[in-house]
Amino acid sequence: MDLHTAQDRIAQRIRAMNERVQYYASRGLYHYNIPIEELIDGVRVRVRGREMLMFASYSYLGLIGHPRINRAAKEAIDRYGTGTHGVRSLAGTLPIHRELEETIAEFKGTEAAIVFSSGYVTNLSVIAALVGRGDYVFSDKLNHASIVDGALMSGAKFLRFRHNDMDALERRLKSVPQDAAKLIVADAVFSMDGDIIDLPRMVELARKYNAWLMIDEAHSVGVLGKTGRGIEEHFGMDDVIDIKMGTLSKTIPSVGGYIAGKKELVEYLRHATRSYIFSAALPPAQAAAAAEAFRVIMDEPWRVEKVQANARMFIQGLQARGFNTLHTETAIVPILCYSDDKAFEMTRASHERGIFVLPVISPAVPVDLARLRATVTAAHEPEHIQRAIDVFTEAAHEVGLPLEPPSRA
Ligand SMILES: *Cc1c(COP(=O)(O)O)cnc(C)c1O
Repeated sequence: MDLHTAQDRIAQRIRAMNERVQYYASRGLYHYNIPIEELIDGVRVRVRGREMLMFASYSYLGLIGHPRINRAAKEAIDRYGTGTHGVRSLAGTLPIHRELEETIAEFKGTEAAIVFSSGYVTNLSVIAALVGRGDYVFSDKLNHASIVDGALMSGAKFLRFRHNDMDALERRLKSVPQDAAKLIVADAVFSMDGDIIDLPRMVELARKYNAWLMIDEAHSVGVLGKTGRGIEEHFGMDDVIDIKMGTLSKTIPSVGGYIAGKKELVEYLRHATRSYIFSAALPPAQAAAAAEAFRVIMDEPWRVEKVQANARMFIQGLQARGFNTLHTETAIVPILCYSDDKAFEMTRASHERGIFVLPVISPAVPVDLARLRATVTAAHEPEHIQRAIDVFTEAAHEVGLPLEPPSRA
């Protein structure tokens, strides 16, 4: 910082963040950016030299390390090497990209699909490609940062509505000119709370007000619906979402993002989305791994049933001990700690007992709603889940987090 000793705002910002990190690190309460040193098996990991049960993974169907998926990635490297050296439009497209897009379209039951190099970039650049100045974006208050950033970048008017409150959405829809272009966007499963968007009413409103509907399925693919197809299957609705967005970095053990939908929409995005045109194509190994992962989900339906059963067991077990898990119904399970300090202490106490879980604090969640965000996967067995529930209970007693078990009256 020698060149910037002046108290300029950039220097102040940098110093403030460093001081905050130092404050927690010096107390052994800084838990971010920790290397996962080894994946021992689907559930056990090594962190800071110690073996722990993983309760912070997005590998909802336990697909990380699946032999078929690893093999597909290795074969793609042998055939195409490790990079694409180009954007999709200019010499970056390989047959494996086409195959991945066809597989996604088949899985999601749409005419077509298009992939991008991350989920974040998908939301950012697709929203900006669809709307602009003079248009309106209606966004749930708890939507993922990538949706917020895309809407802001687009230049459209950005209207947020109360979380999962369809009356609030309708008031917003009514408040704008009837003939304006409108896009409603929401997470299918909210990434910090684990609850599910009220899709049936949202579809009704989108139709009534002639709005386009975009749903981010980062945490619903593989998790919701009898065969893991996601939120439409969960509600028994058939192709009611115009723009079905998803990531290849959660249930799918790769990296990348996609949009599935009508052929015309996908063709437009291939020519109008700046990240597709100006950023390199997915590496061959990641594209091949992602395509194979969708096929594994279709071939091994037991995984979907298992993650759903595990989520039920985990949520019910925690609630019976008196934890507040908000309105989750899915594999993302918030365990409210309220203050940042309690969330950090709960994390430390859980790690000391061999459960790997991570805290989420503001600004990712509202102030005073800091929490552990635990996740369950199809790789967990009931004894792992029971152990985690016991550990969180012991940790709560140790750090003084009050529990309110439901009365048995
Ligand atoms: C993780 C996530 C993304 C971003 O996906 P990446 O592939 O990690 O960039 C987008 N939306 C939601 C809801 C997410 O949880």
